[in-house]
Amino acid sequence: MNKTIETDVLIIGSGPAGYTAAIYAARANLKPHLVSGLEPGGQLTITTDVENYPGFGDIIQGPWLMEQMKEQALKVGTEFHHDIVKKVDFDINPFIAETDSGLKFNSKSIIIATGAQARWLNIESENKFKGFGISACATCDGFFFKDQNIIVVGGGNSAVEEALYLTNFASKVTLVHRRDKLRAEKILQERLFKHPKIELIWDHTVDEFIGSEEPLSLNKIKLKNTKNNNEKIIDATGAFIAIGHDPSTSLFKDKIKMDNENYIITKSDSTETNIKGVFAAGDVKDKVFRQAVTAAGMGCMAALEAEKFIAENY
Ligand code: NAP
Repeated sequence: MNKTIETDVLIIGSGPAGYTAAIYAARANLKPHLVSGLEPGGQLTITTDVENYPGFGDIIQGPWLMEQMKEQALKVGTEFHHDIVKKVDFDINPFIAETDSGLKFNSKSIIIATGAQARWLNIESENKFKGFGISACATCDGFFFKDQNIIVVGGGNSAVEEALYLTNFASKVTLVHRRDKLRAEKILQERLFKHPKIELIWDHTVDEFIGSEEPLSLNKIKLKNTKNNNEKIIDATGAFIAIGHDPSTSLFKDKIKMDNENYIITKSDSTETNIKGVFAAGDVKDKVFRQAVTAAGMGCMAALEAEKFIAENY
Protein backbone atom coordinates (compact mmCIF):
# COMPACT_ATOMS: atom_id res chain seq x y z
CA MET A 1 0.00 0.00 0.00
CA ASN A 2 1.73 3.20 -1.14
CA LYS A 3 -0.12 6.26 0.06
CA THR A 4 0.97 9.76 1.07
CA ILE A 5 -0.74 11.49 3.97
CA GLU A 6 -0.36 15.22 4.60
CA THR A 7 -0.81 16.06 8.26
CA ASP A 8 -0.12 18.68 10.92
CA VAL A 9 1.03 16.27 13.60
CA LEU A 10 2.44 12.77 13.35
CA ILE A 11 2.82 10.92 16.64
CA ILE A 12 5.15 7.94 16.73
CA GLY A 13 4.40 5.59 19.62
CA SER A 14 1.35 4.48 21.57
CA GLY A 15 2.20 4.54 25.27
CA PRO A 16 0.81 7.12 27.71
CA ALA A 17 2.92 9.87 26.08
CA GLY A 18 1.76 9.09 22.54
CA TYR A 19 -1.93 8.74 23.40
CA THR A 20 -1.99 11.86 25.55
CA ALA A 21 -0.28 13.84 22.78
CA ALA A 22 -2.93 12.48 20.40
CA ILE A 23 -5.81 13.49 22.70
CA TYR A 24 -4.51 17.06 23.06
CA ALA A 25 -3.58 17.45 19.39
CA ALA A 26 -6.97 16.12 18.24
CA ARG A 27 -8.81 18.44 20.61
CA ALA A 28 -6.78 21.33 19.14
CA ASN A 29 -8.26 20.28 15.78
CA LEU A 30 -4.89 19.24 14.38
CA LYS A 31 -6.27 15.87 13.17
CA PRO A 32 -3.20 13.92 14.34
CA HIS A 33 -2.06 10.61 12.91
CA LEU A 34 -0.57 8.11 15.35
CA VAL A 35 1.60 5.20 14.29
CA SER A 36 1.43 2.71 17.11
CA GLY A 37 4.44 0.44 16.61
CA LEU A 38 4.38 -3.32 16.85
CA GLU A 39 2.92 -3.57 20.36
CA PRO A 40 0.30 -0.84 20.80
CA GLY A 41 0.04 0.45 24.36
CA GLY A 42 3.71 0.25 25.26
CA GLN A 43 5.11 -1.01 28.53
CA LEU A 44 1.85 -0.72 30.48
CA THR A 45 0.37 -3.52 28.39
CA ILE A 46 2.82 -5.89 30.04
CA THR A 47 2.09 -4.75 33.61
CA THR A 48 -0.70 -5.92 35.84
CA ASP A 49 -1.87 -3.84 38.79
CA VAL A 50 -1.54 -0.09 38.48
CA GLU A 51 -2.23 1.73 41.70
CA ASN A 52 -0.40 5.00 41.18
CA TYR A 53 -2.11 6.43 38.09
CA PRO A 54 -4.26 9.22 39.52
CA GLY A 55 -8.00 9.22 39.09
CA PHE A 56 -8.81 5.66 40.09
CA GLY A 57 -9.87 4.75 43.61
CA ASP A 58 -9.43 1.05 42.94
CA ILE A 59 -6.46 -0.78 41.48
CA ILE A 60 -6.66 -0.88 37.69
CA GLN A 61 -4.92 -3.07 35.10
CA GLY A 62 -2.22 -1.64 32.82
CA PRO A 63 -3.65 -3.09 29.57
CA TRP A 64 -7.10 -1.75 30.45
CA LEU A 65 -5.69 1.73 31.10
CA MET A 66 -4.04 1.73 27.68
CA GLU A 67 -7.24 0.60 25.96
CA GLN A 68 -9.04 3.49 27.61
CA MET A 69 -6.37 5.96 26.46
CA LYS A 70 -6.62 4.62 22.92
CA GLU A 71 -10.40 4.84 22.92
CA GLN A 72 -10.25 8.42 24.19
CA ALA A 73 -7.69 9.38 21.51
CA LEU A 74 -9.84 7.82 18.76
CA LYS A 75 -13.05 9.41 20.03
CA VAL A 76 -11.63 12.91 19.81
CA GLY A 77 -10.41 12.39 16.25
CA THR A 78 -7.01 10.68 16.11
CA GLU A 79 -6.23 8.57 13.03
CA PHE A 80 -4.64 5.37 14.32
CA HIS A 81 -2.25 3.22 12.25
CA HIS A 82 -1.08 -0.18 13.48
CA ASP A 83 2.20 0.12 11.67
CA ILE A 84 5.91 0.74 12.23
CA VAL A 85 7.80 3.85 11.16
CA LYS A 86 10.88 2.62 9.30
CA LYS A 87 12.47 5.85 8.13
CA VAL A 88 12.34 9.53 8.99
CA ASP A 89 13.71 12.60 7.29
CA PHE A 90 14.02 15.68 9.49
CA ASP A 91 16.11 17.69 6.98
CA ILE A 92 13.10 19.29 5.36
CA ASN A 93 9.80 20.53 6.73
CA PRO A 94 7.17 19.12 6.30
CA PHE A 95 9.11 16.20 7.76
CA ILE A 96 8.85 12.80 6.09
CA ALA A 97 8.14 9.50 7.80
CA GLU A 98 7.72 6.20 5.98
CA THR A 99 6.16 3.08 7.42
CA ASP A 100 6.59 -0.64 6.98
CA SER A 101 3.30 -0.97 5.11
CA GLY A 102 4.21 1.75 2.60
CA LEU A 103 2.53 4.82 4.10
CA LYS A 104 4.37 8.10 3.66
CA PHE A 105 3.60 11.01 5.97
CA ASN A 106 4.43 14.61 5.18
CA SER A 107 4.00 16.19 8.59
CA LYS A 108 4.45 19.76 9.79
CA SER A 109 5.44 18.47 13.23
CA ILE A 110 6.43 15.13 14.72
CA ILE A 111 6.05 13.91 18.28
CA ILE A 112 8.39 11.06 19.16
CA ALA A 113 6.93 8.88 21.90
CA THR A 114 8.56 5.54 21.16
CA GLY A 115 9.30 4.73 24.81
CA ALA A 116 11.85 2.24 26.05
CA GLN A 117 12.39 -1.52 25.98
CA ALA A 118 13.42 -4.11 28.52
CA ARG A 119 17.15 -4.64 28.91
CA TRP A 120 18.76 -8.12 28.83
CA LEU A 121 21.83 -9.42 30.65
CA ASN A 122 23.49 -10.17 27.30
CA ILE A 123 25.26 -13.35 28.30
CA GLU A 124 25.46 -16.17 25.79
CA SER A 125 23.36 -18.72 27.69
CA GLU A 126 20.59 -16.12 28.07
CA ASN A 127 20.01 -16.10 24.32
CA LYS A 128 19.86 -19.88 24.28
CA PHE A 129 17.09 -20.11 26.90
CA LYS A 130 15.07 -17.02 25.93
CA GLY A 131 11.54 -18.32 25.55
CA PHE A 132 12.61 -21.66 27.08
CA GLY A 133 12.69 -20.58 30.71
CA ILE A 134 13.94 -17.01 30.41
CA SER A 135 11.56 -14.08 30.01
CA ALA A 136 11.45 -10.32 30.53
CA CYS A 137 7.71 -10.19 31.11
CA ALA A 138 6.18 -11.72 34.21
CA THR A 139 2.62 -10.89 33.19
CA CYS A 140 3.09 -12.51 29.78
CA ASP A 141 4.83 -15.67 30.94
CA GLY A 142 4.31 -16.08 34.69
CA PHE A 143 1.48 -18.51 34.15
CA PHE A 144 3.86 -21.07 32.62
CA PHE A 145 5.79 -21.38 35.87
CA LYS A 146 3.08 -22.83 38.08
CA ASP A 147 4.54 -24.57 41.18
CA GLN A 148 8.11 -24.04 39.98
CA ASN A 149 11.24 -22.43 41.47
CA ILE A 150 12.10 -19.28 39.61
CA ILE A 151 14.38 -16.28 39.94
CA VAL A 152 13.95 -12.60 39.19
CA VAL A 153 17.05 -10.54 38.43
CA GLY A 154 17.16 -6.86 39.38
CA GLY A 155 16.60 -4.52 42.28
CA GLY A 156 14.28 -1.82 40.95
CA ASN A 157 10.50 -1.41 41.04
CA SER A 158 10.04 -3.73 38.07
CA ALA A 159 12.02 -6.58 39.64
CA VAL A 160 10.17 -6.31 42.96
CA GLU A 161 6.75 -6.01 41.31
CA GLU A 162 7.50 -8.98 39.09
CA ALA A 163 8.74 -11.07 42.02
CA LEU A 164 5.55 -10.31 43.96
CA TYR A 165 3.35 -11.02 40.96
CA LEU A 166 5.12 -14.30 40.22
CA THR A 167 4.29 -15.63 43.70
CA ASN A 168 0.78 -16.13 42.26
CA PHE A 169 2.17 -19.02 40.22
CA ALA A 170 5.59 -20.14 41.41
CA SER A 171 6.25 -22.20 44.52
CA LYS A 172 9.31 -20.07 45.31
CA VAL A 173 10.69 -16.83 43.87
CA THR A 174 14.30 -15.85 44.48
CA LEU A 175 15.24 -12.25 43.82
CA VAL A 176 18.87 -12.00 42.74
CA HIS A 177 20.36 -8.53 43.05
CA ARG A 178 23.89 -7.37 42.32
CA ARG A 179 24.11 -5.09 45.39
CA ASP A 180 22.94 -5.32 49.00
CA LYS A 181 20.31 -2.61 48.64
CA LEU A 182 17.23 -2.39 46.45
CA ARG A 183 16.38 0.75 44.55
CA ALA A 184 12.65 -0.12 44.53
CA GLU A 185 10.17 2.03 46.48
CA LYS A 186 10.00 1.33 50.22
CA ILE A 187 6.37 0.18 50.11
CA LEU A 188 7.26 -2.48 47.53
CA GLN A 189 10.35 -3.52 49.48
CA GLU A 190 8.24 -4.05 52.60
CA ARG A 191 5.84 -6.30 50.69
CA LEU A 192 8.76 -8.24 49.25
CA PHE A 193 10.56 -8.77 52.57
CA LYS A 194 7.34 -9.94 54.22
CA HIS A 195 6.38 -12.44 51.52
CA PRO A 196 6.77 -16.07 52.63
CA LYS A 197 7.44 -17.36 49.09
CA ILE A 198 10.24 -14.87 48.33
CA GLU A 199 13.92 -15.27 49.14
CA LEU A 200 16.64 -12.73 48.42
CA ILE A 201 20.16 -13.34 47.23
CA TRP A 202 22.19 -10.16 47.61
CA ASP A 203 25.46 -9.26 45.88
CA HIS A 204 25.14 -11.77 43.06
CA THR A 205 24.88 -11.65 39.30
CA VAL A 206 23.95 -14.43 36.88
CA ASP A 207 27.01 -16.03 35.37
CA GLU A 208 25.34 -18.76 33.36
CA PHE A 209 21.97 -20.32 32.64
CA ILE A 210 22.20 -24.11 32.57
CA GLY A 211 19.63 -26.58 31.27
CA SER A 212 18.74 -29.59 29.18
CA GLU A 213 18.96 -29.74 25.42
CA GLU A 214 16.00 -31.88 24.43
CA PRO A 215 13.59 -30.44 25.10
CA LEU A 216 15.44 -27.16 25.59
CA SER A 217 14.68 -26.15 29.17
CA LEU A 218 16.33 -24.28 31.99
CA ASN A 219 16.99 -26.06 35.27
CA LYS A 220 19.96 -24.47 37.03
CA ILE A 221 21.50 -21.03 37.34
CA LYS A 222 25.11 -20.26 38.15
CA LEU A 223 25.49 -17.11 40.22
CA LYS A 224 28.62 -15.15 40.99
CA ASN A 225 29.22 -13.16 44.15
CA THR A 226 30.04 -9.57 43.18
CA LYS A 227 32.20 -9.10 46.30
CA ASN A 228 34.42 -12.20 46.31
CA ASN A 229 33.72 -13.82 42.89
CA ASN A 230 32.59 -17.08 44.56
CA GLU A 231 30.19 -19.10 42.45
CA LYS A 232 27.12 -21.05 43.44
CA ILE A 233 24.54 -23.01 41.50
CA ILE A 234 20.85 -22.85 42.36
CA ASP A 235 17.93 -24.89 41.06
CA ALA A 236 15.45 -22.85 39.01
CA THR A 237 13.35 -23.58 35.97
CA GLY A 238 12.52 -19.96 35.20
CA ALA A 239 14.32 -16.62 35.18
CA PHE A 240 12.76 -13.21 34.74
CA ILE A 241 15.13 -10.41 33.81
CA ALA A 242 14.01 -7.04 35.17
CA ILE A 243 17.10 -4.86 35.01
CA GLY A 244 15.78 -1.69 33.45
CA HIS A 245 15.23 -0.32 30.01
CA ASP A 246 16.85 1.25 26.96
CA PRO A 247 15.15 3.99 24.96
CA SER A 248 13.75 3.00 21.57
CA THR A 249 15.68 5.50 19.49
CA SER A 250 17.59 3.52 16.85
CA LEU A 251 15.32 4.99 14.14
CA PHE A 252 16.55 8.48 15.03
CA LYS A 253 20.26 7.73 15.27
CA ASP A 254 22.34 10.58 13.77
CA LYS A 255 19.11 12.50 13.00
CA ILE A 256 18.46 14.07 16.38
CA LYS A 257 20.53 14.93 19.44
CA MET A 258 20.75 12.15 22.01
CA ASP A 259 22.77 11.68 25.19
CA ASN A 260 25.39 8.98 25.73
CA GLU A 261 22.67 6.47 26.69
CA ASN A 262 20.67 7.26 23.51
CA TYR A 263 17.89 9.18 25.25
CA ILE A 264 16.63 12.08 23.14
CA ILE A 265 17.69 15.44 24.54
CA THR A 266 15.01 18.10 24.96
CA LYS A 267 15.23 21.70 26.11
CA SER A 268 14.59 22.28 29.78
CA ASP A 269 10.90 22.50 30.76
CA SER A 270 10.02 21.57 27.19
CA THR A 271 9.70 18.61 24.83
CA GLU A 272 11.44 20.51 22.04
CA THR A 273 14.40 18.67 20.50
CA ASN A 274 17.29 20.25 18.61
CA ILE A 275 15.11 20.14 15.47
CA LYS A 276 12.38 22.77 15.40
CA GLY A 277 9.02 21.06 15.00
CA VAL A 278 10.17 17.70 16.36
CA PHE A 279 9.21 16.97 19.96
CA ALA A 280 9.98 14.04 22.26
CA ALA A 281 7.86 12.86 25.18
CA GLY A 282 7.88 10.04 27.71
CA ASP A 283 10.49 7.34 28.36
CA VAL A 284 12.27 8.03 25.08
CA LYS A 285 13.61 11.23 26.66
CA ASP A 286 13.21 10.58 30.37
CA LYS A 287 15.49 8.31 32.36
CA VAL A 288 14.66 9.86 35.70
CA PHE A 289 10.95 9.56 36.40
CA ARG A 290 9.72 7.02 33.81
CA GLN A 291 6.17 6.89 35.14
CA ALA A 292 2.97 6.56 33.14
CA VAL A 293 1.72 9.82 34.62
CA THR A 294 4.90 11.76 33.83
CA ALA A 295 4.92 10.33 30.29
CA ALA A 296 1.30 11.40 29.86
CA GLY A 297 2.19 14.89 31.13
CA MET A 298 4.99 15.16 28.60
CA GLY A 299 2.66 13.98 25.83
CA CYS A 300 0.37 16.86 26.70
CA MET A 301 3.29 19.30 26.65
CA ALA A 302 4.45 18.00 23.26
CA ALA A 303 1.01 18.48 21.69
CA LEU A 304 0.73 22.02 23.05
CA GLU A 305 4.21 22.83 21.78
CA ALA A 306 3.44 21.31 18.36
CA GLU A 307 0.28 23.41 18.17
CA LYS A 308 2.27 26.56 18.95
CA PHE A 309 4.97 25.62 16.43
CA ILE A 310 2.40 25.19 13.65
CA ALA A 311 0.60 28.43 14.54
CA GLU A 312 3.88 30.37 14.41
CA ASN A 313 5.31 28.73 11.29
CA TYR A 314 2.39 28.06 8.97
P1 NAP B 1 15.58 0.48 37.29
O1 NAP B 1 14.90 1.26 38.34
O2 NAP B 1 16.58 1.13 36.42
O3 NAP B 1 16.28 -0.75 38.04
C1 NAP B 1 17.06 -1.66 37.34
C2 NAP B 1 17.64 -2.65 38.35
O4 NAP B 1 18.37 -3.64 37.65
C3 NAP B 1 18.60 -1.99 39.33
O5 NAP B 1 18.38 -2.52 40.61
C4 NAP B 1 19.95 -2.36 38.78
O6 NAP B 1 20.91 -2.54 39.79
C5 NAP B 1 19.70 -3.70 38.13
N1 NAP B 1 20.58 -3.93 36.99
C6 NAP B 1 20.80 -3.11 35.92
N2 NAP B 1 21.65 -3.70 35.04
C7 NAP B 1 21.96 -4.90 35.57
C8 NAP B 1 22.78 -5.96 35.15
N3 NAP B 1 23.45 -5.93 33.97
N4 NAP B 1 22.89 -7.06 35.93
C9 NAP B 1 22.21 -7.12 37.10
N5 NAP B 1 21.41 -6.15 37.56
C10 NAP B 1 21.29 -5.05 36.81
O7 NAP B 1 14.56 -0.22 36.29
P2 NAP B 1 13.04 -0.68 36.50
O8 NAP B 1 12.88 -1.42 37.75
O9 NAP B 1 12.67 -1.33 35.22
O10 NAP B 1 12.25 0.67 36.61
C11 NAP B 1 12.36 1.64 35.57
C12 NAP B 1 11.59 2.88 35.97
O11 NAP B 1 10.20 2.57 35.95
C13 NAP B 1 11.91 3.36 37.38
O12 NAP B 1 11.89 4.75 37.38
C14 NAP B 1 10.78 2.81 38.20
O13 NAP B 1 10.49 3.60 39.34
C15 NAP B 1 9.63 2.85 37.20
N6 NAP B 1 8.64 1.82 37.55
C16 NAP B 1 7.64 2.18 38.38
C17 NAP B 1 6.69 1.27 38.76
C18 NAP B 1 5.61 1.72 39.67
O14 NAP B 1 5.64 2.86 40.08
N7 NAP B 1 4.65 0.89 40.01
C19 NAP B 1 6.78 -0.07 38.32
C20 NAP B 1 7.83 -0.42 37.49
C21 NAP B 1 8.78 0.54 37.13
P3 NAP B 1 21.47 -1.32 40.68
O15 NAP B 1 20.40 -1.02 41.66
O16 NAP B 1 22.71 -1.90 41.27
O17 NAP B 1 21.74 -0.22 39.71
